[in-house]
Amino acid sequence: MELLEQIKQAGVVGCGGAGFPTHAKLNCKVDTFIVNGAECEPLLRTDRWLMRCRAAEIVAAAGLCGGAVGAGTIYIALKEHYTRAAEALEQAIRDQRSPVKLFRLQNFYPAGDEQALVLEVTGRVVPPAGIPLDAGAVVSNAATMSAVYDAVQGEAFTQKYLTVTGEVARPVILRVPVGTPLLECVEAAGGTALNEYRVLCGGPMMGKLYTMEEARRETVTKTTSGITVLPPDIPLVRERETPLRVTLRRARTACIQCSRCTDQCPRHLSGHPLRPHMIMRKLAYAGDIRDVLEDKDLLQAQLCSQCGVCEVYACPMGLQPRQVNVFVKGELARAGLRCERTGGVWTPEEARQWRKAPSRRMAVRLGVGKYYDYEIDTLLTPEVSRVRLPLKQHIGVPAVPEVKAGDTVVLGQRIAACPDGAMGAHISASIGGVVMAVDDAITIERGNI
Ligand code: SF4
Ligand code: SF4
Repeated sequence: MELLEQIKQAGVVGCGGAGFPTHAKLNCKVDTFIVNGAECEPLLRTDRWLMRCRAAEIVAAAGLCGGAVGAGTIYIALKEHYTRAAEALEQAIRDQRSPVKLFRLQNFYPAGDEQALVLEVTGRVVPPAGIPLDAGAVVSNAATMSAVYDAVQGEAFTQKYLTVTGEVARPVILRVPVGTPLLECVEAAGGTALNEYRVLCGGPMMGKLYTMEEARRETVTKTTSGITVLPPDIPLVRERETPLRVTLRRARTACIQCSRCTDQCPRHLSGHPLRPHMIMRKLAYAGDIRDVLEDKDLLQAQLCSQCGVCEVYACPMGLQPRQVNVFVKGELARAGLRCERTGGVWTPEEARQWRKAPSRRMAVRLGVGKYYDYEIDTLLTPEVSRVRLPLKQHIGVPAVPEVKAGDTVVLGQRIAACPDGAMGAHISASIGGVVMAVDDAITIERGNI
C-alpha cells in the first residue's frame, strides 16, 4: 500500500491544531517539508517528549513524508533549548543516514504557528489568507510524524500522547486511548487538590477552557495535545470567562489607539495587512457592526490566527483584540464576506526580528508561570475501561458509523468511516470491547475478547 493510503486507512490527522487529515495535506508537491517541533504553547511537553523518546520513528516518518511530497529539503524545526530532543534526533539522523536536517528556533511565541514557521525556516511569507503550500512548503507536527510511523507499521491512529500538568499531583506524559475521559487523565496524573478548578484542553494561549461540569463530559480526541488543571482565580481564566458584551463594551470605551496590538501582531509583522487597532477603532465608531462589515480593515480580521499576542502581551489597557476579532470573524461569516487570497510577494516588517514575544513572559502574564519550568519526563499508560469517540473530532466532515450498539470490536478495528471523496478521517476502536452506544460518538466498554 502506498504511504498516503496507509495514512488514510489509519485515520491520521494533524495532532497540533485543527486536525487536518494528513493524507490530504500530503497530497501535493512542494520543495520544503517541515516537521513542526516548536511546541510553542507554554506548558506543553508532548512533542518534546516524543522527539526525544521516539526520535528514530519521527526521523523515519519525516523522510517518508518529505519524499512523498517531493521535497528537496526536509527540516525538523525545534527550539534551541530543546537540547535532549535535538541530541536524540541528531543521533537518529546519523543512524539512518537520513537527509532530514534540524532547524533551531528562538524561544518565542508563536514559533509553532505554521505561517511563522515557514517564514523562519524558508524566509518566505505565506500570502494573506493563504496556506504554507502557497509558499512551497508543507508543515506537519512532530506528534503527527509519530502517528505516521505507526500507520506505516499497520497500526491505526487510536492512542494519544498528551501532557497533563498544572494543579495535579504528578505532571506526566500519558499515552491513552482516543476517547478517554479528560478527568481520568487528571486522575492518572495523581488528581488535583483543588476543590474548584478549570480544565484547559490544549495550551494556555489557544486551548479550550472547560468548567468542572463541562470537563466531566469531554474526552480525549485525536487533536488533544495536553490537559492543564487551573485554579479559577488566575488572569487566563478571568479573561476567558469575561462575557463578550463586556469585552466589546471595553473595546469601545477604553482603547487608547496606541497601536501596540498591531505593532506586536505576528501576522502584521510577517507583512500581512492585519491591523487590530484599526478594527478596534472602526468598531468603536460604528453604531452597528453591520454598518462597517465591508470596511477593508474589518475584513482583515479573517487574517487573524487568534494567537493572542495582542491581548496577553501587547495591550497596556488589558483589552482583548483577539476576542473582538473572533466576534468580527463570526459576523463576516454570517454575512458571507471573505477576505480573498492575495497573490504577490509579501515582505516581513523589519521590526519582526526584535518584536518576538518571549514564551515565558506570556505564561507569567496568564498566571501560569509557576508551571512553566516543570520537568515532565514520566510516561504513563493507564488502563482505561470506557471510551467515547466523537464522530467529528477535527476539521472536515464527521465519520459515518460502521458499528451498532451491542457489536463486539477489537482494538484497531475501523468503527466509522470518512465518506468517499469527503474531507475527513476514519475512526478505529481505541480499546477492544462492546459498543455501548452510537450517537454523535461511539462509546465502547472494555471486555474480555
Ligand atoms: S490574535 Fe492578535 S496578535 Fe494574534 S494574529 Fe490576531 S490580531 Fe494578531
Ligand atoms: S494595544 Fe490595546 S489600547 Fe492599544 S490600540 Fe490595541 S487594543 Fe487599543
